[in-house]
Amino acid sequence: MSQNFDVVVIGAGPGGYVAAIRAAQLGLSTACIEKESRLGGTCLRVGCIPSKALLESSERYIEARDHLQEHGVQTKGVTLDLAAMLARKDSIVQGLTDGVAHLLKKNGVARFSGHGALKGRGEDGMYSVAIAGEAGEDTITAKNVILATGSRVADLPGVERSGDRIGGSTEALSYPDVPKHLVVIGAGVIGLELGSVWARLGSKVTVLEYSDRCLPMMDAAIGREAKKIFKRQGLTLKFGVRVTGASVKGKKCTVEAEGHEPITCDRVLVAVGRAPYTDGLGLETVGIETDDRGRIPVDDHLQTSSPGIFAIGDVVKGAMLAHKAEEEGIAVAERLATGWGHVDYDAIPNVIYTDPEIATVGKTSAELKDAGVPIKEGSFPFRANGRARALGQTDGLVKIIAHAETDRVLGVHMIGPRVGELIVEAAMAMSFGASSEDIARVCHAHPTLHEVVKEAALAVDGRAIHM
Ligand code: FAD
Ligand code: NAD
Repeated sequence: MSQNFDVVVIGAGPGGYVAAIRAAQLGLSTACIEKESRLGGTCLRVGCIPSKALLESSERYIEARDHLQEHGVQTKGVTLDLAAMLARKDSIVQGLTDGVAHLLKKNGVARFSGHGALKGRGEDGMYSVAIAGEAGEDTITAKNVILATGSRVADLPGVERSGDRIGGSTEALSYPDVPKHLVVIGAGVIGLELGSVWARLGSKVTVLEYSDRCLPMMDAAIGREAKKIFKRQGLTLKFGVRVTGASVKGKKCTVEAEGHEPITCDRVLVAVGRAPYTDGLGLETVGIETDDRGRIPVDDHLQTSSPGIFAIGDVVKGAMLAHKAEEEGIAVAERLATGWGHVDYDAIPNVIYTDPEIATVGKTSAELKDAGVPIKEGSFPFRANGRARALGQTDGLVKIIAHAETDRVLGVHMIGPRVGELIVEAAMAMSFGASSEDIARVCHAHPTLHEVVKEAALAVDGRAIHM
């Protein structure tokens, strides 16, 4: 196998493997280095996919136990087989990670197993990359390098992560039994998703959040609705609580927070964010310095301070989302092959897969007001939608924010059934520069949940029909 490449990608998460496939599709000789035996990164191994598998399974459990009777379907003796649920999740992960290996091979990407590290630039302008694998060290060279090394769980000072009793999301995807009392530190995305899973499976779940509201990064209307719904579902959410420590004694954990009594529980999930991962990457050999948050600084074309070295995904600024990493990977590969490559950062959707789901794209009302942008808004609730009633899932709403003068859609925020799918309609409309009138004029099939999006668009001009 050749040891000289047009592009070497370090990291095979959704950013890295997608960049490698696109570069190879465009005719560039491409290598991809991954230190874990399974490809797919955080997302496929210990993130998006296993968490969604558990969310789905735990929803089915609750549906069978508590809700099928509403449909006239009688169920008796519904019990939980946690081992089977975890095994299903693991087999989904295995299938998808095997699939990535197959895709790399099919597209002619050379795969290297081991830890990749930059080793400076030669006089010929080629970068050297060392790979420390099981069989020893290898060195390959490349004109261009794409750094896609992702992120890891962020630590909280004073909280001793023991891996078992006090851990992060990876541990919470595989607890061997249902904790009687689970304390979650952080009411962000992971806290709410994995907190919901274990609450459905029978844990008492207490979520401790530093900020004074639920989902502080989301539109306030959605945060308020989410708080109401999660409380009703039995999650104990405590706001304005700054956790300062957590420790383990035997099988019990104690969590300490400023101005609060210590809480004793069985397990602790630390979900206070993720930190960029650049350990042992050899950035110093090419003169790259990380910023104050450990991220690799990049310009508008995702190029680092070292020409020909690019960085994408969780290791750079911006949302830590798999599809954002993928878009950046494609943009860099296309730019290298064609001179053009672009990411529309204003139209990146963000979905939280709780029940109901939460989904947003674009700016919040507060962000637009702070920026002095004149806006008008329309909202429509799922309870007035026929399909939502047939599903028996009527909680939530869709809110559309448009420019007050041009009517261009600037933000769409949703909480409700399957809004993770509905948000794509809004992202597409925003990518095409649509107005709320444009969305309202599109014929939406009946009865569908999408009609709530249409009605919210009509509501922007005060002319919703079914409310
Ligand atoms: P990663 O996926 O982290 O991949 C980086 C890869 O690089 C890893 O495989 C790592 O082993 C490898 N690597 C690192 N350093 C080296 C090195 N020196 N040499 C070789 N290999 C190296 N996002 C969503 O969009 N939707 C979701 O539903 C979602 N759910 C999530 C649930 C959880 C529990 C978590 C933790 C995250 C979730 N995310 C979700 C976030 C998502 O996983 C990340 O945004 C995404 O994986 C980032 O992709 P990436 O390619 O930048 O990095
Ligand atoms: P997050 O940033 O979503 O939430 C962390 C929360 O912890 C914040 O609300 C913060 O105020 C709180 N916090 C911080 N310090 C605290 C303290 N001392 N005491 C109490 N609360 C404290 O982070 P996360 O939930 O860990 O998720 C990490 C990343 O993974 C997110 O950025 C997200 O983009 C990504 N992710 C995405 C999805 C998805 O797309 N569905 C799912 C999971 C994770």
